[in-house]
Amino acid sequence: MDFSLNEEQELLRQTVREFAENEIKPLREELDEKEEFSIPLTQKMADLGLFGILIPPEYDGMQMDYLSYCIVVEELARVDGCQAATVAAGNSLGSCPVACYGSEEQKKALLPKLAAGKLWGFGLTEPNAGSDAGGTQTTAVKKSDKWILNGSKIFITNAATDITLGSTIQTVTGEREGGKKVYTCFLVKQDTPGYSAKPMHKKMTWRSSNTAEIYLEDVELTDADILGGEGEGFHQMLETLDSGRLAIAAMGVGGAQGALETAVAYAKERRQFGRPIGKFQALAFRMADMATEVEAARSLLYRACWLKDSGRPFSMEAAMIKLYASEVMKRAADGAVQILGGYGLMEEYPAAKFYRDQRLLEIGEGTSEMQRLVISRKLGL
Ligand SMILES: Cc1cc2nc3c(=O)[nH]c(=O)nc-3n(C[C@H](O)[C@H](O)[C@H](O)COP(=O)(O)OP(=O)(O)OC[C@H]3O[C@@H](n4cnc5c(N)ncnc54)[C@H](O)[C@@H]3O)c2cc1C
Repeated sequence: MDFSLNEEQELLRQTVREFAENEIKPLREELDEKEEFSIPLTQKMADLGLFGILIPPEYDGMQMDYLSYCIVVEELARVDGCQAATVAAGNSLGSCPVACYGSEEQKKALLPKLAAGKLWGFGLTEPNAGSDAGGTQTTAVKKSDKWILNGSKIFITNAATDITLGSTIQTVTGEREGGKKVYTCFLVKQDTPGYSAKPMHKKMTWRSSNTAEIYLEDVELTDADILGGEGEGFHQMLETLDSGRLAIAAMGVGGAQGALETAVAYAKERRQFGRPIGKFQALAFRMADMATEVEAARSLLYRACWLKDSGRPFSMEAAMIKLYASEVMKRAADGAVQILGGYGLMEEYPAAKFYRDQRLLEIGEGTSEMQRLVISRKLGL
């Protein structure tokens, strides 16, 4: 058993850590306060290659392994969950479905642009279909050689920025015998008539990440816009989420690490009763527990990445680590707020942002309840 990272992975971690410290940290509070999605910062992350990590080289990507990808997301989240979200959604949800299921033509047309930092959304969730992804109400009806799409999507990351090219949209295209719905995904470009995407505001979490509502009114597409084949949509979405959960878990590990470091640094500086508060065993033990949990989550995450990278089944482990890392970050962020005392409740200190950004992790890409459902089903329950 070899737990060491290879030289490229170590270098990648170092490079992304320095980038996050030097380029993201100085802007973090301001972007969060203004709820601003930053195109210049996104472009800088693209210049570093962070949107082409999983894209094959023939489409201008770097095609690294999943562990390397998760290290990148972890390092971004250690400083800012919002920029980690932009990169994670750009890779796991934006380019990956196109790279995995797209036709050669679709890949050539889209992937080089996505590797260069243009964005693409993943439109599964609807106002009436969240955890129950099978409850999709958006329809695509074939009329002669055209597909006509109608419906709406909600909470779609990266779907309404000035650098978004479009989104993958899951639709219902029919019914099988016995009433089972047929799901088909379409690649819909941003400028298609009848298609519109609007940013959602007033989020408590991920405030400088772009979250959008999408509306489709008689949007006309053709067979060439279908991702993979007709009827393959559900399977594509579930597979995409399995992998995406590893990136959400990486945000949990990175965010928990960031919260822990914030707490430790503060506890060394802040003095009460004549000594640093980190010398009080109540707080020191709490940070020891936080550190232990972060390490456990990281090990579980890296092992799940190894399963995926070596072609083994990983969906139960992905659900486990998504669930566990989200909750580890919850405890770490809560610990950081507590250790910073009153300052932990002030937005000028990073503990509050870790606390708010953590909340998404227990909800996005399948709630914690849904992860427990996946795991319990694998146990035969
Ligand atoms: C910032 C943000 C970004 C997002 N990005 C995307 C994106 O890019 N693409 C996308 O498609 N979606 C995205 N989502 C949507 C996200 O995946 C959903 O919010 C999530 O799946 C939950 O769906 P819901 O909000 O409709 O909650 P619901 O499904 O209505 O759940 C409400 C509550 O009921 C519980 N519940 C539901 N069913 C069960 C059950 N069977 N057993 C036990 N409990 C249950 C849930 O766990 C939850 O606690 C994003 C959401 C947010 C907030």
